[in-house]
Parts: sequence; C-alpha cells; structure tokens
Amino acid sequence: MPDKEGKLSADEQQKIIKWIMDHSAGLGINCPICKQKNWGITEHLIYLPIYTPNALTIGGPTYPCVQLICNNCGSVQLINAVHTGVLANSPPDKKEVTNG
Ligand SMILES: [Zn+2]
Repeated sequence: MPDKEGKLSADEQQKIIKWIMDHSAGLGINCPICKQKNWGITEHLIYLPIYTPNALTIGGPTYPCVQLICNNCGSVQLINAVHTGVLANSPPDKKEVTNG
C-alpha cells in the first residue's frame, strides 16, 4: 500500500516489476513507440476517473494505475494497480440512487 502521500516504496516498485515479468513470460514489455525495454516506474500511482457523459466526476470511483514511462522516448504505459497486487481490491462506495 502506498504511503499517505501516495508514494510507492522500493519494495512495492520491485513487486510491480516482478509482476510485470511474471505476466510477460519473463520477456518484459516492449515500448510501443521505440520498441526498447527500458522502463521506469513513477513513485506514485495515478488514477483514471470513470467516464460520465457530459460531466466531469470529481471524488467518484477511479481505476488506480501503475505508470510506466519509457526511459528512451517518454511513452507511458498504464497497468491496473489492483492487478499487480500493490493495492487491495476495494469496491467503490455504494450510493443509493432513487427516482423521484
Ligand atoms: Zn519508448
């Protein structure tokens, strides 16, 4: 679990690297732009907010992601943080919606 500033520890970053290697048959990930395998992991997780038509949702459910940046060309790759095991899977808060 990242610290209260959202920063990943060195152990968490290593866990993510191991997860990537385990899930890429030990081959790593080629950059889709430059084809190199020269990635860095940012110190913080990032998240993607859910899409809602005609509105920007702030404070709603999100998809936390590990951000990989190609050290050669700067291309960014996102991997779901829950899948890597660095975050526990917690469902978004349920909110009741009533009609009328
Ligand atoms: Zn690249």
